[in-house]
Amino acid sequence: MRVLVLNVGSTSVKYNLYEMDTEARLADGRVERVGTDEATHVHGGANDRVDGRTAEGALRAILAHLSREGGPLGSTGLAAVGHRVVHGGEQLISPTPIDDRVESIIEECARYAPLHNPVNLAGIRAARAVFPAVPHVAVFDTAFHAQLPAYAYTYAIPHELYLEKGVRRYGFHGPSHQFMALSAAEHLRTDLSRLKLVTCHLGGGASVTAIDNGVSVDTSMGMTPLEGLVMGTRAGDIDPALPLLLARDGMTFEQIDELLNRKSGLYGLSGVSADFRDVQRAAEGGDPRARLAIDVFVHRIRKYIGAYTAVLGGADAIVFSGGIGENSALVRRRVCEGFIFMGVALDDQANEHERAADHGGIVEVSAKRAPTKVLVVHTDEERMIAREVMRSVVGPTAVIRSVRARPIPVGVSVRHVHLSRADCDALFGAGYELTKRRDVTQPGQFVTRETVDLVGPKGELRGVAIINPLRKQTQVELARTDAFALGVSPPLRESGKLDGTPGLTLRGPAGSVKIESGVILAHRHVHMSPSDAKEIGVNDRDMIKIRVEGDREMTIGDVIVRVSPDYALDLHVDTDEANAAGLNNESVVAFEGIQETAS
Ligand code: ADP
Repeated sequence: MRVLVLNVGSTSVKYNLYEMDTEARLADGRVERVGTDEATHVHGGANDRVDGRTAEGALRAILAHLSREGGPLGSTGLAAVGHRVVHGGEQLISPTPIDDRVESIIEECARYAPLHNPVNLAGIRAARAVFPAVPHVAVFDTAFHAQLPAYAYTYAIPHELYLEKGVRRYGFHGPSHQFMALSAAEHLRTDLSRLKLVTCHLGGGASVTAIDNGVSVDTSMGMTPLEGLVMGTRAGDIDPALPLLLARDGMTFEQIDELLNRKSGLYGLSGVSADFRDVQRAAEGGDPRARLAIDVFVHRIRKYIGAYTAVLGGADAIVFSGGIGENSALVRRRVCEGFIFMGVALDDQANEHERAADHGGIVEVSAKRAPTKVLVVHTDEERMIAREVMRSVVGPTAVIRSVRARPIPVGVSVRHVHLSRADCDALFGAGYELTKRRDVTQPGQFVTRETVDLVGPKGELRGVAIINPLRKQTQVELARTDAFALGVSPPLRESGKLDGTPGLTLRGPAGSVKIESGVILAHRHVHMSPSDAKEIGVNDRDMIKIRVEGDREMTIGDVIVRVSPDYALDLHVDTDEANAAGLNNESVVAFEGIQETAS
């Protein structure tokens, strides 16, 4: 299966074509100066003038090149086109097949990535026109950080800004950090689930990520790619009062934006260049500003590595990548200096002379006995994107974990009874029709005005709700606390599975009935329609985990999915479960992941 990965920027279109059975790269190249009359297709040493006045023109030139007689596309055709998209917000997390809805979410997210998302989107639209018959999949820079814990992604500003506008940290460079983590696990021959890693992507943009168990648990970039490390032209962390001060001094919004995004970082500090090599040359020539630029650059990385080692409770490896991380022995040496207390010591010889590219993409540069490994990775974001595209094409598991992005409403099931016709007759009189008090969330069901009393060996519960319609067999659903009060010991069961369950006495105005079986603790479950199930990425009878946020935050597993066209999206828990998690009928929870698939 062949996958074409596109990275459309404001003036260039980069492409990589992979054969995914072997992950062999069949072709790569780029069209530069897109949008001008001088667009040039650079590939394998050649420079061809093409009509690249629009992204679509550039893509047509690439398509013609790849599918030429004897070209790498040959007659096989494409299985999918993958698009690198910078910001997916909270709604687009998994690699996502692109349709009009996805396009409009990418457009909304441009608010937080104004330099990138609009050009990414233009590229997607052009590519859909050029490759109309092939699935297009978006892979997001933010996606790998989707599981950041709330305490890591939340800014300490009024919470309404998050709830109403999605102001939070998202993190970027996802494919690179993910690729580094996978490469490190492979190199260390250890499952990712047993590794704590600090990954440093140091290129034109730069970020550090703390990875525990294969999951990004903190990352230095924030709501936009401006936060965190010192970068080529970006400031990274500053006092948030600084833009206010600049504004007070008369700078416009555009000027401040320009200052922090394009005139700061290595460039602004050194006054020489945004390119690390130029700054290093100037520093070596004795330029004090260039020296300071490197000092600030290195110090910031050290701070983050220290902080993230603390966040992780220790690190098995520190991983470097990106143009600077991969190539600058100086930066790695200065960053790792004095980290012996964290078990970090470099093998100077290896650090100076070994190159990841000569060792299949990863090389170890730490001293032999140092407990914390230092690894250098030749990152390959495009390959990572191609893998993610395959995952999406072969079988999507859209895991959307944010409560805000897809809230699942909660229905707390208070103890209640479903009656059979015969038992209803015995309790209320022959042929009695129960009357409606209020609807419940599931269509067609309602709570009746009538109630019954439950009588057990130890005690009674009066005025227990009845839920209509009538059923074949009477069923009593209790919470464990109710069962204690009554003196019965029902098992945890799904509704309707009543074999071997205990009985109880029910008392109504017309008489009592003693049922022989039918008392259960209802197994927690979530109702949903087939379209909800498709969007969430689950199937009927899957066992899933859900996450509860709030002051009794917890993850609740063993939730059974029940899919039917008649169901509304609703999590059902009993009163004990609701109380333990601080839930009520106004609460919402999030899908956290699949625990066990039904098949
Ligand atoms: P981008 O993030 O724009 O894709 P790269 O990952 O290619 O960029 O990183 C570019 C940075 O890497 C530049 O600052 C460049 O100076 C730096 N770099 C490349 N090679 C070296 C080297 N041998 N030593 C130090 N820095 C290098």
